[in-house]
Formats: sequence, structure tokens, C-alpha cells
Amino acid sequence: MPVTRLADLTDPAQCPCLVVKVGSSLLVGANGLRREWIAALVDEIATCRARGQSVIIVSSGAIALGAARLGLEKGGRGSLADAQAAASVGQIALSGLWAELLERHGHTAAQLLLTLDDLEDRRRYLNATATLGRLLDAGAVPVINENDSVATHEIRFGDNDRLAARVAQAVQASAVLLLSDVDGLFDRDPADPAATLVREVRGVSADIKAMASAESGSGLGSGGMTSKLQAAEIAELAGVALAIVNGTHEAPIARALASDTGTLFLPAPGKRRRDAARKAWLGGRMKLKGALVVDSGAARALQGGSSLLAAGVTAVSGVFARGDPVSIVDAGGTVLAHGLSEYDSGECDRLKGRQSSEHEALLGYAPRSAVVHRNQLVLK
Ligand code: GLU
Repeated sequence: MPVTRLADLTDPAQCPCLVVKVGSSLLVGANGLRREWIAALVDEIATCRARGQSVIIVSSGAIALGAARLGLEKGGRGSLADAQAAASVGQIALSGLWAELLERHGHTAAQLLLTLDDLEDRRRYLNATATLGRLLDAGAVPVINENDSVATHEIRFGDNDRLAARVAQAVQASAVLLLSDVDGLFDRDPADPAATLVREVRGVSADIKAMASAESGSGLGSGGMTSKLQAAEIAELAGVALAIVNGTHEAPIARALASDTGTLFLPAPGKRRRDAARKAWLGGRMKLKGALVVDSGAARALQGGSSLLAAGVTAVSGVFARGDPVSIVDAGGTVLAHGLSEYDSGECDRLKGRQSSEHEALLGYAPRSAVVHRNQLVLK
């Protein structure tokens, strides 16, 4: 059952995997990190974990914190070099605090510094997805930020809103929770007394976009509503629910969900959710680079929802790199599936027909779990 209301976000049956994004203005105050507030949020995250949900944290705040420590003006946003220097100082303290607070609940934090490009490029997308999947399986709590210190593009406003949505797409999370300094999306400028909170959005339409104000009020974060709507669009395409709630209160998740206060973005009615979105995502990139011919056992396993293992591959055609899209065909040439190959064509050729136990010796390094992972393939 997918998420259909805010309260579902902490229900493991509706939402087995939740991405929580925390904005800079919530994490960093005039005196540095807001330890007590963060500790209370970690208590809430630990409650989610205890209920059986996987949780991924996307944490901003590195630039704001580093700027405070280095005494840089404009919150470290005066120049790209300032932001990058600030981020490297802030990040180390930020992840240290997350790790310390999670550890109190017996949880292991895992830091990932990503760039939006990492989730656009197929090979890096596969790497990030595999790493995140493995971390979640192993019970860790990933804490993600953008790798601002080496980002080559201008560090853009609201990057982490979009990053959170991309991460949710990559791990096929059920929902993204954006903790912000406002209650959600208002139908006009929230300062206007006539403004009302929009509680549910089915599809980010032009009317909805017109409601967003461009800048965030606090001056610390960089999100504003525009980037949150961009994140909502990414989530919508991936069949992932996205909620914006006010994080300025103590224990904000419980408060927002109990009072049903926030904006919940759901895919537009009539749109098929995850499968269709996934197909579209893969389909959009499907300039196929090669083909893997499989035996009848592998063909049956694929129809049953399994990954493609090397043992079932009988031939390889084309020249492709790891992460390239390939077709999977049966002996008669019928296309069974399209997917992203975990190995390049030379490696596929070496591994074809071979059992997993032989792979390490054939490759000379630790093998991957499949030739095409089931999360990265679409049946035809
Ligand atoms: N990555 C930035 C930071 O840690 C925040 C980006 C954003 O505000 O979206 O400071």
C-alpha cells in the first residue's frame, strides 16, 4: 500500500523506507549546531527504525556551520570558494554529531557525500544505489549531503531538496519528508493573512508552481519553495510521495503527523506509480549498447522477478561499459527485458555461463551480485 496521507510516513507497512531531509536553518543556529533539537529529531528517527522503517537522512547545514566557525560573511555564501571551504569545515562536525546521536540509539551512521551528477550518470548512479542498498540492508543509517567542497558547478540554492528526491528515486524509497521552516506550501505569500496551507497536491501543475515564493525567509537555508517543488516533481515522476512539514518545533515529525499539518505531494490521479515511473526512467535512457543472450532458466527467473546472473548468460554482443543499457534476449532473439549492466561487455563475456563462486578468480576483484540487478531492469 503506498503513502496516501501524512500519517502514513511513519507507518512501516505504507512506508518501508523514508528519506528525511533537514534544512540548514533547523540544524544551525546563532551559536552553532542546535544539539538539543537535533537530538530530539534523532530520537524520532530511532523510533522509525524501531518500527521497522529504513531511514536515510539528507542533512544540509555544512556551509552554514563552517561559515560560523571560520567567521565568513554572508553565511559562507559570499563566493564559491567561501562556500566550499565552509562546507569542508562544517561537514566534519555535522557528520560527527549525527554519528554520535545515532550511536546513542545503537545505530551506525554512514556518511555519503554525493553530487547531483552522481545520480544522473548511469555508472555512478549504479554505484550510489548499490552502496545505499547495501548500507540499508546492513542496518546503517545513511547521512547524505552534497559534496560541496569539490562540486564543480555553482552550489545552487536548494540542492539538497532535489538531492533528497533523487536519493529516494535511487533507492526506491516510499516517501521524502522535507523538514522546513514553514508549515508547507501556501496558496499565496505566507505573510499574507489570507494565505491558506495547501494540504495535498496531486501533480505539480502550473497553478501550484505559481504559489511558490522564490526565497526562503531565514537566510540560512537555500531552499525556498521553488526548489521544494522541483523536488516534488522529481519524486512524482519516481512514484514517491513527498511531504513538506515545519521542523521548527521540538520532535517535528510526530507533531506534524499527529496534527496533520503539512503539504503532501502525491502523483497525479490516474498516473500509475512506481513501475510506470521506473520504466519511464529507464526507458528515457534506453539507447541500447548491446545485448545479453540468456538460457531458458534465466528467462524464467527474470519473469519471476529475479536478477540476471552470469550463469544464465550464453552470449554477449556489442561493446558497452558498466552502467550502460543493454537488452536481455532469449535464444530465439525475443527481447525479454532492458536493464543496466553491472559489468562492461568484456567482463560479461568472461563471466558468461560461470557460477558466482568462480567470479572473483575470473575478475581479480570482488564481484557484484548480478550481471543486471532486478532493480535496474524492466521486463518487456
Ligand atoms: N549542501 C549545503 C550545506 O550543507 C546545503 C544545500 C541546500 O541548502 O540545499 O550547507
